[in-house]
Amino acid sequence: MIPRPPPSDPEDLDASSSPRPSFSRRRCLALLQSSTSIPNLKQIHARALRAGVPVSSPDLGKHLIFAIASLPSPLLSYADTIFGRISRPSIFTFNTMIRLHAESPSPSPALPLLPRLLSAGLSPDSHTYPFLLKACAKLLLPRHGELVHARSVRDGHNSVFVLNSLLHLYSACGQFHSAHKLFEEIPHRNLISWNTIINGFALNGRPNEALTLFREMSHRRVAPDGFTMVSLLSACGELGALVLARRLHVYLSKLGLYQNSHVGNALIDLYAKTGAIIDAEKVFHEMGSRKTRVSWTTLIVGMAVNGFGEEALKLFKAMEIAGETPTEITFVGVLYACSHCGLVEEGFEYFERMKEEFKIEPKIEHMGCMVDLLGRAGQVDRAYKFILDMPIEANAVVWRTLLGACAMQRRVDLGEAAWARLERLEPGHSGDYVLLSNLYAGQRRWADVGRIRGSMLRKGVKKTPGKTLVEIGNSVWEFVMGDRSHPESEEIYAMVEEVAGRLRKEGYTAGTTAVLADIEDEEKETALRYHSERLAIAYALMKTAPGVTIRLVKNLRVCEDCHTVTKLISRVYAREIVVRDRSRFHHFSGGRCSCRDYW
Ligand code: ZN
Ligand code: ZN
Repeated sequence: MIPRPPPSDPEDLDASSSPRPSFSRRRCLALLQSSTSIPNLKQIHARALRAGVPVSSPDLGKHLIFAIASLPSPLLSYADTIFGRISRPSIFTFNTMIRLHAESPSPSPALPLLPRLLSAGLSPDSHTYPFLLKACAKLLLPRHGELVHARSVRDGHNSVFVLNSLLHLYSACGQFHSAHKLFEEIPHRNLISWNTIINGFALNGRPNEALTLFREMSHRRVAPDGFTMVSLLSACGELGALVLARRLHVYLSKLGLYQNSHVGNALIDLYAKTGAIIDAEKVFHEMGSRKTRVSWTTLIVGMAVNGFGEEALKLFKAMEIAGETPTEITFVGVLYACSHCGLVEEGFEYFERMKEEFKIEPKIEHMGCMVDLLGRAGQVDRAYKFILDMPIEANAVVWRTLLGACAMQRRVDLGEAAWARLERLEPGHSGDYVLLSNLYAGQRRWADVGRIRGSMLRKGVKKTPGKTLVEIGNSVWEFVMGDRSHPESEEIYAMVEEVAGRLRKEGYTAGTTAVLADIEDEEKETALRYHSERLAIAYALMKTAPGVTIRLVKNLRVCEDCHTVTKLISRVYAREIVVRDRSRFHHFSGGRCSCRDYW
């Protein structure tokens, strides 16, 4: 924890000025310190003014600002007004204002407070810098942060707190090299330093590095706490690393951290994210009375995205019986589950209950679920009407859901309507171009496919390269489409060919709409064969024993052809294959997929 300024200093209590018997300065101070809400503070403020107590004087003003800052949801504009009225604020008051802004959703006003306090002749102290750096981290301003840090070094305040804040800044800004270098250089690293860098890497797309650092941490006999474990669990979830997840689970039980309900919830989430829904359920039940509504929600959402819609709805009913109040996220899970099971009318019933019974205003995520629900059920016209009637403006995600539904249902007219909005809302999103060109290709409208490609090239829209992660033993491997960087590349490509040969014997021919239209069919098939998940599956088939479930994480949507091929592989090779793509899970088994071929 970064130390906060002390609530008050005792000298204020002696320096009382012109108190009135009815409402003294001392009484005002006592009330400020025990205040619990903004209206309450404003009342005290008004009373003080009426009684002639100078509430904007530097000493009382600082307590008023501190009282505002200590509330769970502070009113920034109020603090700003009081701050503006204080003639000579102290460094304590400046620090409180910096903290207040740094912890708010829009922290930029924290930064100009440094030059202001300097020009007022004040010297920053050890509390000033960590919060300034926190503001820089939120604003993603690494250069500015470095200047702030240089100043702290000059002032002799380069404490481990300041260094940890700088570390957080570097990882938040994705400057992993600088973060790592700084981490190595911190002289007295504490648990917070380890947690900061591990969490920074885990949450900013470097889960592998987070796990490596954890190994180093254990090696140096630094004991992790619940915070470290939650970061690690999220890193494993990111990687879809189930073997590692199970090992961390054992480790958690040994450390006794398993009793912590945040850790329990993180475990449920992790197992759900690695597609191991049975393990997620087991943790949920083992939590017993430590279950919170977050635990229920996490499992409901987990089941829904994994394609176990009926189970998710059953669990929701159990949640109601248990007397837990659902949250807006619970309903995202419930609606998703309805959508997955094709329960259109039930979905609308839950949507209404959410509004009427639970007084939850539908958010854009819920709207997205409803559009998905209709789209999946083939009711694209109704989905389009639903979007037009929405009380809130549809965002790109909602229109993209409709475009996806149109691509599946081969509805060019509405697909084009969705595309027109997407071009305005989020131009240059490569996935949309791919969906639209697939829609045209499915209708064999090659001229339109060519037009879309041309416009992609003209606008410089690049296709995001497909990447797939696969966990083999203790390591997680990454494959990029057409990748030849793997040390066993040759064997992997030989395996891809072998798999293709075996599938051809089963009567498979490539559906080639997902590949660009102007290359020959044979080439198209080759291009498809080297999609990243094919390489990852081939590698997993080489490296794991028969019958072992293969788990993949893909950064894009699985293409239609890879979907068909994965279904076939699951049958021909008798393997369960779990794929988490950008929007959902596919559990392939015995030639079928849990998504029922709609994704
Ligand atoms: Zn593919
Ligand atoms: Zn599927």
